[in-house]
Amino acid sequence: MAVCETCGGKGFVLVEEKKCPSCKGTGKAKSINLSELSEQQLNLALGGSCPACNGTGVTRVTEKCRECNGYGEIKECKVCGSHFGGDGDRCQ
Ligand SMILES: [Zn+2]
Ligand SMILES: [Zn+2]
Ligand SMILES: [Zn+2]
Repeated sequence: MAVCETCGGKGFVLVEEKKCPSCKGTGKAKSINLSELSEQQLNLALGGSCPACNGTGVTRVTEKCRECNGYGEIKECKVCGSHFGGDGDRCQ
């Protein structure tokens, strides 16, 4: 069992970083319609941070790591010795 090097053990990889459309990349909550937010998002917005991007100004597009199948770790198959990500101790 080893940490997947492709995703660093996170189970997903970053595909793209985009400017946050809600705050237009500023990370500020000023221009956001507060009535549409959940309570948690509202707290962020009242603190001045954009709830869509947590105030970072960027949104991240991620996808499940194909190397480890989203598990974040690579195992060695007990049967054929190949490396795989998933439940159990064999690849299939
Ligand atoms: Zn934002
Ligand atoms: Zn991985
Ligand atoms: Zn196998």
